[in-house]
Amino acid sequence: MDCVFCEIIKGNIPSTKVYEDEYVVAFNDLNPQTPVHVLIVPKKHIASAFDLEQEDAELVGRVFLAAKEIAKNLGLDNGFRIINNCGEDAGQTVKHLHFHLLGGKTLGEKII
Ligand code: 5GP
Ligand code: ZN
Repeated sequence: MDCVFCEIIKGNIPSTKVYEDEYVVAFNDLNPQTPVHVLIVPKKHIASAFDLEQEDAELVGRVFLAAKEIAKNLGLDNGFRIINNCGEDAGQTVKHLHFHLLGGKTLGEKII
């Protein structure tokens, strides 16, 4: 399997990790769109939100608990945004479920 995020999780590709626990890892995006742009990634390889199973329900909750912790550690006291791109229409480029945690400035126009 040729998955860049699995390789980052294994430590075979370098990344700047900002958080790790039993379930998820979080590291800085290579191409940041905001002053803080972290990718929160479940350690389990799940291709996208389309591929979530019932058994993954807790894992998604863990992602949001990690987000809260990261926000606290990185000083995002004024708020943050989480985005998940799923599939072609959303322009998902890396086929390993991940959540963009964006912050560090007043964020621009919302889509919804
Ligand atoms: P997507 O468009 O799939 O939601 O977002 C994929 C994100 O992964 C992009 O923001 C891209 O910059 C980031 N990315 C792709 N390859 C790497 C990598 O090797 N290392 C890191 N840190 N980020 C990556
Ligand atoms: Zn993977």
